[in-house]
Amino acid sequence: MTAESVTPVPRSGIHREAPPAVTAMVRLIRDAWAKAEPQIPEISQFFYGMLFTLAPATRDFFPINMEVQRGRLVRALVHVVQMVDRPDDLVPFLRQLGRDHRKFGVVSKHYEAVGTALLASLKKHLGPAEWTPEVERAWAEAYTIIARSMQEAAAADDNPASWSATVAEHRRLSWDLALVRLEPDQRVPFQAGQYVSVEVPQRPRLWRYMSPANAPREDGSIEFHVRAVDGGWVSRAIVSHTQQGDVWRFGPPLGRLSVDRESGRDVLMVAGGTGVAPMQSMLDELAQWGENPKVRLFYGGHTREDLYNLENLRALASTNPWLTVTPVVEQGPGLVGCEQGTLAEAITRHGAWPKHDVLVSGSPAMIRATVSRMLVAGTALDQIRYDPFTID
Ligand SMILES: Cc1cc2nc3c(=O)[nH]c(=O)nc-3n(C[C@H](O)[C@H](O)[C@H](O)COP(=O)(O)OP(=O)(O)OC[C@H]3O[C@@H](n4cnc5c(N)ncnc54)[C@H](O)[C@@H]3O)c2cc1C
Repeated sequence: MTAESVTPVPRSGIHREAPPAVTAMVRLIRDAWAKAEPQIPEISQFFYGMLFTLAPATRDFFPINMEVQRGRLVRALVHVVQMVDRPDDLVPFLRQLGRDHRKFGVVSKHYEAVGTALLASLKKHLGPAEWTPEVERAWAEAYTIIARSMQEAAAADDNPASWSATVAEHRRLSWDLALVRLEPDQRVPFQAGQYVSVEVPQRPRLWRYMSPANAPREDGSIEFHVRAVDGGWVSRAIVSHTQQGDVWRFGPPLGRLSVDRESGRDVLMVAGGTGVAPMQSMLDELAQWGENPKVRLFYGGHTREDLYNLENLRALASTNPWLTVTPVVEQGPGLVGCEQGTLAEAITRHGAWPKHDVLVSGSPAMIRATVSRMLVAGTALDQIRYDPFTID
């Protein structure tokens, strides 16, 4: 697990009761972590020292400057370990993560080394009073479940471990936003709505997730919309320094956003900022069919200038009667047909959307706000889908 995998696991809404032994195991893990967490900088430092001693090859999976990495991997590992009582949510996520990690050349002994280093650093920092044999057994069992799921999924994947693609176009849409079109050497087998991890030559080994903004094309080309976030290592490099001819690497396609054309249910799409990219990809795909479910897209930003893709979406809606696009702005003057407020406010003003499948995409804060407000408004959790978001 590396930097970009610091992600809360999305909840499926399906909840099998965990067996009592698993519940007890998770309680031991959580209690120990509550005591260890304040020491995360020291734990991380010890963890990496031990990992690179046990398995020196793993050093190549991480950026040269380990400052960027800080406590991310340890936090990601602990987050996942604490979820072993939610196998319905965790296992599909781990399987994706396992496939994604093939791009590093991760093998079984690396998983062992990560487990050993994690347990040793917790043991050292918690001390014998807290790190009892029972606690150690709980962590070891949980980590084994995780490592096994990831390795099984990796072994079952016949696709290439990664793909290369050449930048054919880099266009600034605004000071902090760029459209990048790439031509992969080999077709990337993504489906509309999925995302991939990306490595760019300006920031080696700092993989970040990006969502193709188009449906799969005959020529295999892929477009991304990239927004430079404040203090962002990778996004700023892409927006400011990407050049035609740069070679990027992609991991395998991942993600749960899709439209089921056969379900008979209508679709509510909620997109903030560049979260509109996977929605555009799915709409692009739907536009190839004559008949579709009704799709209502709420596309939001702070001001109207943030809605960089609105014209394209409106053009698509003008020729596809199943699509309605509603812009939403938080501040300043609106637009024709525009709603005011946050996306969460705008959507819930229309009720609970009981007959819709709901797809949400955007920044971590926007996803959190939208999903929680919809739940309060009465939307069922299993109606809503979103992909994991990064935490810091
Ligand atoms: C499933 C998925 C799909 C994504 N698709 C896209 C996409 O199509 N286009 C795109 O531009 N980005 C997308 N992202 C976000 C992207 O992966 C990176 O997180 C983002 O570009 C920041 O990376 P960085 O290295 O520049 O910032 P970092 O150096 O990792 O972080 C710098 C600072 O920015 C904050 N930050 C990190 N990510 C975000 C974020 N998404 N929004 C606001 N603040 C953030 C951090 O908290 C930190 O304070 C996607 C993320 C996920 C999880």
